[in-house]
Amino acid sequence: MAVKTQVSTEIDLDRPGKQQGYLRVPYSHNLAGWAELQIPITVIANGSGPTLLAIGGTHGDEFEGPVALMKLARALQPEEVQGRVIIIPALNLPAVRAGTRLSPVDGMNMNRAFPGEYNGSVTSMIAHYMTHVLMPLADIVMDIHSGGRSMVFYPCATLHRVPDDAQYARMLAAARIWGTRYVFIYTDVAGEGLLPVQAERMGKLVVTTEMGGGGECNPGVLRVAERGIRNIMIQQGLLSGQIEVPPYEVTLVAASDPADYVAAPADGVYESLFEVGEEVRAGQMVGRVHPVERCDRPPEPVMARTTGILIGRRAIGVTSQGDVVATIARVVEG
Ligand SMILES: [Zn+2]
Repeated sequence: MAVKTQVSTEIDLDRPGKQQGYLRVPYSHNLAGWAELQIPITVIANGSGPTLLAIGGTHGDEFEGPVALMKLARALQPEEVQGRVIIIPALNLPAVRAGTRLSPVDGMNMNRAFPGEYNGSVTSMIAHYMTHVLMPLADIVMDIHSGGRSMVFYPCATLHRVPDDAQYARMLAAARIWGTRYVFIYTDVAGEGLLPVQAERMGKLVVTTEMGGGGECNPGVLRVAERGIRNIMIQQGLLSGQIEVPPYEVTLVAASDPADYVAAPADGVYESLFEVGEEVRAGQMVGRVHPVERCDRPPEPVMARTTGILIGRRAIGVTSQGDVVATIARVVEG
């Protein structure tokens, strides 16, 4: 049965070969009453094998995913592939163009918009199409994130502890070959409607990451992302070749306690006393918030409540009360 959606495409998702086109989303605005948003999509299919849905630009201020996937979309040829690869380098295209986390078109966070709505705003219509058309076709859903403008992460593959043990084991095996020192099990502390959670509920092998951040496209981190994509494709039988193992042991870490996510107690400029990857201890000061207007007052201390590795920290100096400025993860058994 055809899915009811307002998003259309000239791409035939079942056709072998390489096709490049657009997801066309109705977008009526002040300067164009009849208009559409054109989100680039590449589909490369050959023979039988799994389907990988590879997504970048879910947040518009995270650039390693979009660049790695644009390069893949240009380079990958059907004869190299066993199965199907669907590549969307800039899922939230208006946000990527603007370099913002949220869509400038409707103010929505694509990673809080799932499962989406048939007749919602632009972001919501895209999410609805992903949920009802593309995700059902996929065996593997890859959503490449970084810290964005506001955060910096020690680059890591990430995953949720999904309740299905077999699904979790497959996700963990994929995360382990992404090629980062840490595999980070995270908890959702800022709302619902995440793209990976939607894919997890549909039973998919979900691959996600937090690759660096600060709003840049870091060359070292980009290399890790490109290697990760290739490793996953080889592991899943989509591509032949050798998995490139990084020269270090992979450590599984988790921030499963809400206390691992440390929020700023006040407005001001945040000074982190640690860099990501360093160990911090419960009760230790991890940073300070300086009240810019008052040099006569001491800065507000920010204390770690748990012991572990600083896996993420705030990237922007100017900080508001309630912004998470430090995320602390502990080594756990796989
Ligand atoms: Zn993100």
